[in-house]
Amino acid sequence: MMSSSTRDPRSILCVGHVCVDLINLCSHYPEEDAKVGTTTANNRFLLEDFAKYGVNTEQAVVCKGCECPSSCVILSRATASRTIIHSNKNLPELSVEDFAQVDLTPYQWIHFEGRNVANVAQMIKLVREHNKGLPRGEFITTSVEIEKAKPELEALIPLADVVFVSKDFAAFKGYSNKAETLERVKALAHPGAVVVCPWGEEGASACQGSGVMVHSPAFPPASVVDTLGAGDTFNAATIFALAHGSALEDSIRFGCRVAGAKVGVIGWEPMR
Ligand code: ADP
Repeated sequence: MMSSSTRDPRSILCVGHVCVDLINLCSHYPEEDAKVGTTTANNRFLLEDFAKYGVNTEQAVVCKGCECPSSCVILSRATASRTIIHSNKNLPELSVEDFAQVDLTPYQWIHFEGRNVANVAQMIKLVREHNKGLPRGEFITTSVEIEKAKPELEALIPLADVVFVSKDFAAFKGYSNKAETLERVKALAHPGAVVVCPWGEEGASACQGSGVMVHSPAFPPASVVDTLGAGDTFNAATIFALAHGSALEDSIRFGCRVAGAKVGVIGWEPMR
């Protein structure tokens, strides 16, 4: 699935899979073998939903005859935790050929979901090839999110200009805090790359090349009600700020502000 955020000729292309979330909002996380009621069950239906939020899906690859990946999510009101049971029956990964058909000229930034590693590595190479024909100021920036606890994702770290590393991946690698995560990931990233590390209620930190580490606190709402997608919200807002020329520290602060507002509401409807 590929989509761009607006019709603006210098817009942001997102590359990854799309998944339907079936959200069950429960008063508390259920006991095993118990039967509990849900206060909300919400199917978000993809293309219409993207349109509603102004996301352009002209470049989306829709696979006929494939079932959409889906996640059953249990949101606990008591703790704001989000437990996710995911299934993908038969949606294939995006191919390098699909990506190669996209005219990259309108894009200022291309963000890749960290998955489909061999193909995404090739796609980033195609972006680099494209950049070779451009003046430096017009290079397309690439970013990648290293989110899931999967060892193969590490191979994407050296490739992108901006690397988002989640605390789940950090925990999987045995890194104990944001500072250690940034140091370790920076050592794998290409020189000059930006590394960004969101860390739940602790906010986020980031660094660029040999530059100093910058930090932002979290901006907790009066009440935390829904943390599903907090990381995605942080990443999107941070990319938005960086793409508009904001400094790294200001950009992660903006990411934390938007993500903080998001965790205070159910879903995204109230954020529109
Ligand atoms: P995820 O688990 O969704 O990948 P994180 O838990 O790291 O993402 O959160 C991403 C960002 O969302 C954090 O950097 C922070 O700004 C914000 N955030 C997450 N949880 C909270 C919270 N309880 N209070 C305030 N902000 C939060």
